[in-house]
Amino acid sequence: MSESKIPYKIYLTESEMPQSWYNVRADMKTKPAPLLNPGTGLPMKPEELEAVFCSELVEQELDNDTRLIPIPEEIRNFYKMYRPSPLVRAYCLEEKLKTPAKIYYKFEGNNTSGSHKLNSAIAQAYYAKKQGLKGVTTETGAGQWGTALSMACSYFGLDCKVFMVKCSYEQKPFRREVMRTYGASVTPSPSTETQVGRKILAEHPGTTGSLGCAISEAVEVAVSNPGYRYVLGSVLNQVLLHQSVIGLEAKAALDKYGVKPDVIIGCAGGGSNLGGLISPFMGEKIRGEADYRIVAVEPASCPSFTRGVYAYDFCDTGMVCPLAKMYTLGSDFIPSANHAGGLRYHGMSPVLSQLYDDGYMEAVSAVQTDVFEAAEAFARVEGILPALESSHAIRVAIDEALKCRETGEEKTILFGLTGTGYFDLVAYEQFHNGTMTDYIPTDEELESYRRRLPKV
Ligand SMILES: *Cc1c(COP(=O)(O)O)cnc(C)c1O
Repeated sequence: MSESKIPYKIYLTESEMPQSWYNVRADMKTKPAPLLNPGTGLPMKPEELEAVFCSELVEQELDNDTRLIPIPEEIRNFYKMYRPSPLVRAYCLEEKLKTPAKIYYKFEGNNTSGSHKLNSAIAQAYYAKKQGLKGVTTETGAGQWGTALSMACSYFGLDCKVFMVKCSYEQKPFRREVMRTYGASVTPSPSTETQVGRKILAEHPGTTGSLGCAISEAVEVAVSNPGYRYVLGSVLNQVLLHQSVIGLEAKAALDKYGVKPDVIIGCAGGGSNLGGLISPFMGEKIRGEADYRIVAVEPASCPSFTRGVYAYDFCDTGMVCPLAKMYTLGSDFIPSANHAGGLRYHGMSPVLSQLYDDGYMEAVSAVQTDVFEAAEAFARVEGILPALESSHAIRVAIDEALKCRETGEEKTILFGLTGTGYFDLVAYEQFHNGTMTDYIPTDEELESYRRRLPKV
């Protein structure tokens, strides 16, 4: 089909939507390393994981072999309320940049949670309900995951308890109200409600919190209350699996027009949107059927891929969770408080970590003010106020397109626009007032956290 025929938005029909999630682990030559029991140093057994997570999710977590996992009908029906998400050809941005590059983005912000997180939240709530549980606990950083989970829990009639990183709780009071609208209870973390929270507060009085702290608190509440389990919005293999719906839809839409991206770009916090977006493309790359350049973009203030180490580490600050082998900055790394975006986790998905280590993808970091410049440029031509997190991908997509302007190359660029930025307006305000700063950790600081990695 000729180039001019490609519409601004490529939608799929309901019947073209994915029926199964795609598990990229099935195609990986080196599988991601197993989660370890921190006490014994041995791989976590399913029954050990089932004390914390729902049973069917444990099965998905440990399944490195099944390529396609059917999406239950109840979840597919929920997906139909807000999916397929549009794949947009950024004609206006291309024109503004005067680039010969062809830019596409997959927009996941068209639901109340304002992000891709709902794709996994609804799946996790479904399995919790199916198991007959009363409720779930979780952490949230910027608030998108907590919102998504609140929506999913209210849909299935589950209780939802959210520990929200304190600096975000204070910066984003309206996020909290959205969650409460969906019936969730929201506690700023660290809190005095848990043992681990009290311990962290005693050791670091005045701390603004971190995802790692909030995870420890949520896990403690889940394991000490019968009928509750803990759910996590990123990092885990199961979350990447659910998010593969992003990549499957994107690929199906591009395939309709015979388009193959040269470069695929996504922001990386814990790795779930990026992992989901790239999964089907990565599968082709691993199987030698196609080649794509795949780029992860992380904040310079929390650079797990670009300046972290690939090692076993705790997933949380309180060291109650299993050990995961991942690119990490150390579980007690607390990023500077001025960054309230959802990219501040100290570690990275074990699946993406292994793929990165094997050379299947690249990573770059971006500083905050550069990211905001890109966010604003994008908002002004594409009509969407992007989330701070997503704007990391926009930054690098624009840079790639500008390179094409220099070289005249007509590259096809695909990036993930993970969400909207209506709750990032305090940060936008700082940017507009010229008071935005960016703290980039020094090598010495990173080394001090690294020295405290567990010896495995
Ligand atoms: C949570 C979030 C991210 C980062 O999380 P990943 O697991 O790395 O995808 C990115 N964008 C938005 C809008 C988010 O809410």
